[in-house]
Amino acid sequence: MVPLTAPAFVIDPVRRPRYLFGSLKEMVYCAADAGPRGNHMTDTNNNDAPHDATEFDYVIVGAGSAGCVLANRLTADGKHSVLLLEAGPKDTNIWIHVPLGYGKLFKEKSVNWMYQTEPEPGLHGRQVFQPRGKVLGGSSSINGLLYVRGQHEDYDRWRQHGNAGWGYDDVLPYFKRAENQQRGADDYHGVGGPLSVSDWRHADPLSEAFVKAAVEAGIPFNPDFNGARQEGAGYFQTTTRRGRRASSAYSYLRPARSRGNLHVETAALAQRVLFEGRRARAVEYRQNGSLRTARARKEVLVSGGAYNSPQLLQLSGVGPAELLKQHGIDVVLDARGVGNDLQDHLQVRLVTRCAQSVTLNDVVNHPVRKVLAGLQYAALRKGPLTIAAGTAGAFFKTNPRLATPDIQIHFIPFSTDKMGEKLHSFSGFTATVCQLRPESRGSLKIRSADPTGAAGNPHQLSCDRDRPRRLHRRHSYPAQDFGGAGAQALLRQRGLSGSGQDQRRGIARLLPEDRRHGLSSDLDLPHG
Ligand SMILES: Cc1cc2nc3c(=O)[nH]c(=O)nc-3n(C[C@H](O)[C@H](O)[C@H](O)COP(=O)(O)OP(=O)(O)OC[C@H]3O[C@@H](n4cnc5c(N)ncnc54)[C@H](O)[C@@H]3O)c2cc1C
Repeated sequence: MVPLTAPAFVIDPVRRPRYLFGSLKEMVYCAADAGPRGNHMTDTNNNDAPHDATEFDYVIVGAGSAGCVLANRLTADGKHSVLLLEAGPKDTNIWIHVPLGYGKLFKEKSVNWMYQTEPEPGLHGRQVFQPRGKVLGGSSSINGLLYVRGQHEDYDRWRQHGNAGWGYDDVLPYFKRAENQQRGADDYHGVGGPLSVSDWRHADPLSEAFVKAAVEAGIPFNPDFNGARQEGAGYFQTTTRRGRRASSAYSYLRPARSRGNLHVETAALAQRVLFEGRRARAVEYRQNGSLRTARARKEVLVSGGAYNSPQLLQLSGVGPAELLKQHGIDVVLDARGVGNDLQDHLQVRLVTRCAQSVTLNDVVNHPVRKVLAGLQYAALRKGPLTIAAGTAGAFFKTNPRLATPDIQIHFIPFSTDKMGEKLHSFSGFTATVCQLRPESRGSLKIRSADPTGAAGNPHQLSCDRDRPRRLHRRHSYPAQDFGGAGAQALLRQRGLSGSGQDQRRGIARLLPEDRRHGLSSDLDLPHG
């Protein structure tokens, strides 16, 4: 998992540190001349009104996790004008704000780019669905809400690779500054920041059973995955405030919206960054069928997410020269890293039938219980609707000789064949296994120089089977990348959860009636 406040345009920071801090920083977070501000926009509090100004100090592409933070921070002192461009709509879909709505948005095309990978040779040609937020807040408006910063050692490894300022001790003050931790401040947490982090607001016997089983198996209880260490089993905290999603749009953009120096444009698809020599000077974007240009006096910031940022750069002439020439794009910078070394962690969802009617499936499939859950949420902001992508989880080592955990399990008290689709009619729960450091690398390549394809088609990048593909995206996930470790982790977890001699323990009374797992093996790639 990456923190919600992580910079969006990070390409393989471990193996290619220069793209974080080197030439691309100069190129992409490109400083235009910092000369006199002149030609200033008229301040207005009506930030949704069409604007005449075509020049701003900063132009930010993408109002996702990173873009909203940038917009907030850059406008805070009132000295700079900022234009924030977002391809998607405002975050008015009600399911964005209800944590359980995560499942509803998984395949909701009005707020989701809904990508597919190319057929995966390592998965017998299977394509893997990849949701990505396309709405104010970006993926933080549709994601699983789990607040997991990652391991201290991972940050320290980044520093060890030459990325000064990215060690755990370096980033911790920023995590604390960002945070409004429900449990209060301590060595690892802060209060009073824009991002609310809260405990789950529902008591669930299955999740408790999962944690208990893990502890019985020797995985230590960990009350705080973001504290002194990540290893252990426990309950996830979520980016929520009083039972509602705290997306970056809610946490960072909303408080800044009344600032006269911030202008937000939705349904505005950036098509190209325009360069003068090697300096980015402007962004060309399409909105309501019109092509517009916004000039940046200081910087253009590309925060379109892990897929769209490299796509926009390639369209703009920044990328592997060979690829750009193939599509007739003038090369501004031959940057081989743009679109390469794509990393994501494959996760496998495994479904188990439950012997008791204590799962969310039972609530959703029962008209009275469903209504009661709705009322409970409406009145108290508590109950099953506050369930995020995981209630409980475990981080552990598949081999005791490892220094830190390499596997994560999310436990969730419902089951479905595919995320975003109907829950099963039987009682079921899901344990999702993913490895924390995938070794496979994918790539993203434009398929043509046409940034929009069919004009006005908001899904021009989605690699839907129904549409011509403009991106060639390819993840190579050899089965062994997750299979061995994931399966072992699962077996161990299942062993705990009620089979064999553990049958008479508490968890066994609650859990499986059917230990056949064939129901699932669904694969996701959403949490990068
Ligand atoms: C389904 C799902 C579940 C997840 N669960 C978790 C979780 O539980 N915990 C966690 O920590 N992380 C989770 N993540 C990951 C996390 O949400 C992302 O890592 C993070 O939001 C990425 O932030 P970003 O700013 O890089 O990109 P995004 O938040 O995706 O923002 C990019 C924005 O740019 C816009 N954009 C793109 N191209 C253009 C363009 N050309 N013009 C204009 N706008 C453009 C997009 O529409 C989008 O709004 C999840 C992600 C997904 C998709």
